[in-house]
Amino acid sequence: TLKGKTAIVTGSNSGIGLGVARELARAGADIVLNSFTDRDEDHALAERISAEFGVGARYIKADLSRGDEARALVETAGRCDILMNNAGIQHVAPIESFPAGKWDAIIAIMLSSAFHTMAVAVPMMREAGWGRIINLASAHGLRASPYKSAYVAAKHGVVGLTKVAALETAEDPITANTICPGYVMTPLVEDQIPDTMEQYGMDRETAIREVILARQPSKEFATVEQIGGVATFLCSDAAAQITGTSISVDGGWTAR
Ligand code: NAD
Repeated sequence: TLKGKTAIVTGSNSGIGLGVARELARAGADIVLNSFTDRDEDHALAERISAEFGVGARYIKADLSRGDEARALVETAGRCDILMNNAGIQHVAPIESFPAGKWDAIIAIMLSSAFHTMAVAVPMMREAGWGRIINLASAHGLRASPYKSAYVAAKHGVVGLTKVAALETAEDPITANTICPGYVMTPLVEDQIPDTMEQYGMDRETAIREVILARQPSKEFATVEQIGGVATFLCSDAAAQITGTSISVDGGWTAR
């Protein structure tokens, strides 16, 4: 059980982050939800988790495109036993027309924010005598696809950064790992379907099977609950010697 542990999950008012937060709450952890908005519905998500699982839960706004806000998120939480860097965005364009601002935003939100949150969280974990860093990378942290330069670069960066964190904490009771999902059905993927349909001139079903899940041999999306289950496992005693590695949840994608 994760009772008494505090889990900060970045980018968790939606998709995988919210799914992971719910599974960690189910296992007993107190939860800090985060995104860059500050709406009633964001805070309501925390209230619902608290009521459903009987844990502490709150929502802290931080725009992770800014390093100071990423650091302030962990400082404001005040405690961080489990850190999941999950916030992410996507933009698809060839390198020659890839907007420079999108490049900067993707690298900042998905890679630099993990550096900033870890910089504050690792001393807290050492102080508490226990810690789990789980960075949500992607099959695109291990493989590339055309037109996703910033995303692939950021995710490969996250995989490398996590290995460094694992080595620097190797003699502490702290582990650092990445989860590398293939395709998980979330709003981020949903948003890519219309573009894919247009680009390839396909209907929705065909675009999903032939293009989006083309490299996912199972031809099935993973679920956010499954990603949450892997995160919960990484927080268990059984996983105490798993550090500096990545766990693929990709229906066989990276087996090729
Ligand atoms: P999503 O769009 O549902 O969630 C992304 C989250 O990040 C949201 O909560 C969003 O508000 C937050 N976010 C975006 N910009 C932010 C910012 N500037 N500051 C703070 N929060 C911000 O998408 P998702 O699919 O759940 O993606 C979550 C993570 O999983 C991402 O890192 C993504 O790259 C990764 N991933 C997703 C898939 C997939 O198939 N869905 C596969 C592999 C990896």
